[in-house]
Amino acid sequence: MNYHSMSADQLRETQSDLRKLYDALCAAGLSLDLTRGKPAPEQLDLSNGLLALPGDEYRDAAGTDTRNYGGIVGLPEIRQIFGELFAVDPDNLMALGNASLEVMHDLTVFSLLRGTVDSDRPWKDQKVKFLCPVPGYDRHFAITETYGIEMVPVPMLPDGPDVDACAALTADDPSIKGMWAVPTYSNPTGVTFSEEVTRRLLEMPAADDFRIYWDNAYAVHTLVEAPPTPLPILEMAAAAGHPNRVFVLGSTSKITFAGAGVSFFGASTENLDWFKKHLAIKTIGPDKVNQLRHIRFFGDADGVRAHMAKHREILAPKFRMVLDILDDRLADSKVAAWSEPEGGYFVNLDVIDGTARRVIELAKQAGIALTAAGSAFPYKQDPNDRNIRLAPTFPTTDDLAKAMDGVATCVLLAATESLLASSDS
Ligand code: PMP
Repeated sequence: MNYHSMSADQLRETQSDLRKLYDALCAAGLSLDLTRGKPAPEQLDLSNGLLALPGDEYRDAAGTDTRNYGGIVGLPEIRQIFGELFAVDPDNLMALGNASLEVMHDLTVFSLLRGTVDSDRPWKDQKVKFLCPVPGYDRHFAITETYGIEMVPVPMLPDGPDVDACAALTADDPSIKGMWAVPTYSNPTGVTFSEEVTRRLLEMPAADDFRIYWDNAYAVHTLVEAPPTPLPILEMAAAAGHPNRVFVLGSTSKITFAGAGVSFFGASTENLDWFKKHLAIKTIGPDKVNQLRHIRFFGDADGVRAHMAKHREILAPKFRMVLDILDDRLADSKVAAWSEPEGGYFVNLDVIDGTARRVIELAKQAGIALTAAGSAFPYKQDPNDRNIRLAPTFPTTDDLAKAMDGVATCVLLAATESLLASSDS
C-alpha cells in the first residue's frame, strides 16, 4: 500500500511489523558490503589467461622489446583495439598505466601547475570551478576537492547533464574550467549521454581552457545485447570549433583486472603533446609488457566485445535480482525510485527526502555496508538526503539477495519514521 496515503495508525502498525523484520535482520549477524563497484572474483577469473601472457614472446608486432624502457604513448596495437571501442583515432589515443584515475589526477595537477595549452596562466593562479553532474562519481569529486577547485553541481537528466544549466553557467563564468562526465552508463545513474546533449556540450560558449573529462569508464560494460555506439567525440569537438575541449579517459579495470589493467587517454594532438611533455618528467614509459599481454589476450576489438559478453552473463542476473527485490519490496509503498541500468556497475536508489542517511545507518547496524550518505555529491552534500548508490557486482548472489532484502526493510522503516514525524508536526 502507498505509505503516503496511510493514516498515522496504519503507519504505526506498519512500522511495528517492520521493526520485527529489522530486529530479525540485526539478529542474523550479517556482514555484507554493497559499497564499491568492484568486479566479483568470477569476473576476474575470466581474465586469468592474462597471467600466463605474454610468455617468452615479449616483442610486439612492430618488433619492440616490451621489456625495456620507452614508448611513452603505449603500444600501437592496444591503441588500435581500444581506439575502435572509444571511437578515437589511435593516433590520438595513448595507452598508459593501470589507472585512468591517475591520468585524470595528473591532467588536473598539470593544468593547475602549468596551465593548459589554451590557458593564459596556470589554474593555480586563478579561481577555478568544475561542473559536476549529480549524482556523480565520488573519486572525481575527491580530485577537485583536494586541489581546491570549487565544484558546481548540475542536474543529471535521463539523456545526460542538464545542458541548458551547463551552458548558462559556462557562458557567464570564465572561471569554470572543467566538467566531469561519464558519458556511457554513468556512475551511479546509468545514464548515457545523447548525441544532442553531447553536441551542445561541445558547442556551448565557455572559457578557452574549459575541459570536459570524458570518462568513458563503462564504454563496453553493457547488460543488454550491445553497448551504445560510441560518439566520435574528438571529431565532434573539432567540428564544434573546440578541438581541445575534450579529454577522453578509459581503462580495462572492469574488463580484465581492476588494478592491473591498461588505461587510455585520448585528446587532440595539441593536448597530447602538452600532456606528454609533462608526463615525460614523471615516467620514462608505461608497462608495455602488460599492454602486450592485453593485445595477445584480446586479439582485436571483437575479442573485447566477446569478453564483455561473458561479464554480462555473470552480471545481468545480479542486476535483475536487485531490481526484482526492489520491485517486490518497495514498489507499492511509493517511498523509493530506482534506476534500471542497461550497463555500468550501479543501481541508483532514491528514497524519501531526508531519509538516505537514516537508511544507511540502519543498514550499517544490521551489518550491511552501503556507500556513505552523500558520496555521489560534491563535498558529500546530498541536498535532499535522498540518494543511495547500490553496487551489486561484487557479492555472491546469495549475499546480494540478503543484503537487498535488508536494504528494502531499512528503506521502509526509515520511511515510516519520517512520515510519522511529519504527521506529528
Ligand atoms: N571512472 C569511473 C566513472 C569509475 O566508476 C571508475 C571505477 N570505479 C574509474 C574511473 C576508475 O578507473 P581506473 O581503475 O581506470 O582508475
